[in-house]
Amino acid sequence: MLEEFTLDKYERPIISLRITLTNRCNVNCLYCHHDGMVKSKDEMTSDELYTICKIAKKIGVKKIRLSGGEPLLKKDIVETVEKIASLDFKDISMTTNGILLGKYAKSLKDAGLDRVNVSLDTLNRKTYEFITRKDYLEDAKNGILKAVEVGLYPVKINMVIMKDVNQDEIDDMFEFCKENDIVLQLIELIESENCDDDKFSADYHYNLDEIENEFADIADDIHEREFMQGRKKYYIDGGEIEIVRPVDNSTFCANCSRLRITPDGKIKPCLLRNDNLVELISHVRNGESEKRLEEIFIAGINNREPFNME
Ligand code: SAM
Repeated sequence: MLEEFTLDKYERPIISLRITLTNRCNVNCLYCHHDGMVKSKDEMTSDELYTICKIAKKIGVKKIRLSGGEPLLKKDIVETVEKIASLDFKDISMTTNGILLGKYAKSLKDAGLDRVNVSLDTLNRKTYEFITRKDYLEDAKNGILKAVEVGLYPVKINMVIMKDVNQDEIDDMFEFCKENDIVLQLIELIESENCDDDKFSADYHYNLDEIENEFADIADDIHEREFMQGRKKYYIDGGEIEIVRPVDNSTFCANCSRLRITPDGKIKPCLLRNDNLVELISHVRNGESEKRLEEIFIAGINNREPFNME
C-alpha cells in the first residue's frame, strides 16, 4: 500500500518534522551552528507540542526528531515525549549531547522515544574540553552507554571531524562504537555563525572525501539511504559508519523531506533560510481549529523552495 504524504510543489514528500525544543544548551561547542535556533527565549509547552505534532501527523508526517539547543534541558522532556508518542508516529528520535542521558534514558524509552543520536566528537578529555569548553566527557559517555542499555536503538554517535583536533580519532571512536553496538556518523564541519570566517575553515575544515573513498574500498557492504540526501552507509568489520556531507548542495535539497519548527513555534520550511518562516504557535495558543492549523502547515509546505537547484 502506498503511504500518504503531503507533497510540496517540487513533489518532495514531507516525511519528518524536526523540532528545536529550546535555545538553551549546557555546552558551548566552538563550531556550533545553533541548528534551527532563533534569539527568542520563548519555548513551547508539552501540550502545544502535542497539538503541533497532531497536525503534523494529519498531514502525513511519519517521523519526529527532537533537538535543540540541548533538548534534555527542557524540564518536562519526558512528559513531552510521552504526549508526542501517544500519537503513534513511525519513529521518534532525539539529537542530544548525552550529558543528561544517564538520568533520562530509561524514562525516555518508557515514554516512547525510539532512538537517539548523541553528539560526541572525541573520547579524549582534553579534546572534549577544547571543543565544548566543559568537562562533561564522562557524563556523555555514561549517557551513551545507558541509551544502549535501555534499547534506544540504534544509538548513533555524531562526530564532527576537525583538522588537527580529532581527525586522527576516527578509528578509536569506531572501535568504541563497534564494542557497544553503536552506529558512527562522521559529520563534515560546515560554516556557522560561530565559525563563518575563512580562518576558522582554514584552521579546522577537514574534507571527508579521502576517508569516504577509503571506506568504499574496505567496506563489506554499502547502502544508499532513501530520502536522506543520498547519504551512504558503510558496513565495515561488523560496524556501521555513515558520512554526513555539507548540506548546501542540490542533492541535499532535491532529497529534502523535512520540515522544521523553531523553538519559538514557527514553521521553518528550509534549513538554510530564515526569510520564509511561517508563524504557527500564536495560532495554537489562540485555540484555532485543527482545520485552520492544517492550512497553516500547508502554507509552510508551500513556502518550500530548494535553496540549491540544478
Ligand atoms: N545539543 C544537541 C546535540 O549536541 O546533539 C542538539 C543540537 S546540535 C546543534 C545538533 C548537531 O549539529 C550536533 O551533532 C552537532 O555536532 C552538529 N553541528 C553543530 N554545528 C556544526 C557545524 N558547524 N558543522 C557540522 N555539524 C555541526
